[in-house]
Amino acid sequence: MAQVSGETERTSEVDYLIIGAGVCGLYQLHQLLEIGADVRVVDANAGLGGTWYKNRYPGCRFDSESYTYQYSFSQELLDEWDWKEKFAAQPETLSYLEYVADKFDLRPHITFNARVVRAEWSEDDWRWTLTFEGGRTTRAKFVLGAMGLLSVPTYPRIAGRGAFRGLETHTFDWPEGYDVTGKRVAVIGTGSSGVQVITDIADGVESMYVLQRDANWCAPLGNAPISTEEMRELREKYDEIFAWCRETPAGFIHRPDRTLSTDVTREERLRHWEELYNGQGAGLYMGNYRDCIMEPEPNRELSEFVAEKIRERVSAPGVADLLIPKDHGFGMKRVAGESGFYEVFNKSNVELVDLMDHPIHEVTETGIRIDLGSGEFRDLELDVIVYATGFDAVTGPLDRIEIIGVDDVRLKDQWKDGPETCLGIQVSSFPNLFVLVGPQSGSASANFPRGIEDVVNWMTQTALYIEKHEIGRFEGRRDAEIEWVAHVREMNSKLLMSQTRSWFNGHNINLDRDDNPRVMVYLGGAPRYRRRLAEEIENDYPSFLLSHSSVSAAPST
Ligand code: NAP
Repeated sequence: MAQVSGETERTSEVDYLIIGAGVCGLYQLHQLLEIGADVRVVDANAGLGGTWYKNRYPGCRFDSESYTYQYSFSQELLDEWDWKEKFAAQPETLSYLEYVADKFDLRPHITFNARVVRAEWSEDDWRWTLTFEGGRTTRAKFVLGAMGLLSVPTYPRIAGRGAFRGLETHTFDWPEGYDVTGKRVAVIGTGSSGVQVITDIADGVESMYVLQRDANWCAPLGNAPISTEEMRELREKYDEIFAWCRETPAGFIHRPDRTLSTDVTREERLRHWEELYNGQGAGLYMGNYRDCIMEPEPNRELSEFVAEKIRERVSAPGVADLLIPKDHGFGMKRVAGESGFYEVFNKSNVELVDLMDHPIHEVTETGIRIDLGSGEFRDLELDVIVYATGFDAVTGPLDRIEIIGVDDVRLKDQWKDGPETCLGIQVSSFPNLFVLVGPQSGSASANFPRGIEDVVNWMTQTALYIEKHEIGRFEGRRDAEIEWVAHVREMNSKLLMSQTRSWFNGHNINLDRDDNPRVMVYLGGAPRYRRRLAEEIENDYPSFLLSHSSVSAAPST
């Protein structure tokens, strides 16, 4: 194996090239280094952390319990790191990842400011050639994609965008430390990011317009500081906590109740929902009676329960009504965890603008012009426009690289009607490319560190197999791909989530409102996914075509 070079020395050839130095890429790097592999990470950003490096908007935090959103591989690391909040904010999570990188000496193996723009497979010598922005190239035997699911922000196609003289920013691109205190702000979008930024800045801004298309369901996050004593108690239970998360469908601490809502009286249901609503994290969404996310009638009743909470919390009935989603039930899209979001709309400096009734006409030099109909317009005078408009999710990070496989096929073309993968990890005609975080993978819908551990651990074992058996070419079989996509469709169809317009079903910038949904995530549950991956190792990879290095026509010297 070639020697791993330092930060400044750029290798021109490497065995394993990981794209992305976020939660997944860092762990994969660590695991491959542990087995002595020749590995390098490249990242387009100037620092590590991926999602947590980029999302610096006020209020950004996760809705996984902090102690479940961490690596479990090192007891020392678990002993050393104290979480400050039950749901850590972006700066704390970024510090954690930096701490991990320093502790395990990962930085020398990462090249920053290196955006891959093209990856081309050579069937002659079974190597990928990667081209970076600026023209530099690297060759790799195996390419491992860890670019994240939500790393290509969607700026809406609105007339005049770019003409505004104030600050126009996506939540993902928020300028570090930018302070909106005393400013006139518009936030477009009320998904998880919008809900967080709106809540966080409401008190300090001079005025805020919240521009909403469809409303999104939210539930209280229940965030609080973690005391020293609580941290000690949590640490004692880490083994138990990780073991529990391994058995839950999405790797969260919450697990759907085996009891059906129809097994209990309405009184009991309401009492239970009240407890969940006032509890912590995604309990109401992920830890509820399981029929609430599978059957329309229980879902309707739960949705009405949450709608009533919104009516109680928002003073103006008309505003409350606008904030109650009409196009989907509670939990049919990812629910946003909130901390005072609804009360924001009781403030005199905040106005909700219903884009369904009055769409944006254009962005002007001084703000946003709203179309009131009948040739009438309203001008919102602004200092800042925030696009909380989501992402070209899951496939976007792959699409933006020109990926060329066997017989010059482009991944983008192969996936023009939607992605198809072999176990969410490989794509036929793209040998030696492993997508660790991508479509139809169990990692895509999970509590991220838990989900990626399964895939990375599989990949690491597979790398050992590759070394031991001198495998030079590793490709997902087309028949296995067809089987996997059918399985994913079947599993996903059991959940009401598969019926909504959300990024889980590919309804991002790729699709117009009426296009066919795409199979983006795997909702069959982490334990099932983990078992399926393990079967491959146990049975010598029946879903993949493996070739010995010596078969390559012109092995690289
Ligand atoms: P999102 O959930 O996709 O929400 C995007 C919002 O922008 C929606 O309200 C959408 O309205 C609106 N929008 C999109 N295009 C628009 C347009 N042209 N005009 C007006 N409005 C438009 O994106 P997100 O909030 O960034 O969240 C994405 C995912 O990131 C979440 O599902 C979650 O997985 C993750 N996330 C998690 C956390 C957390 O852990 N707490 C925080 C932030 C993000 P429509 O619904 O009408 O399309």
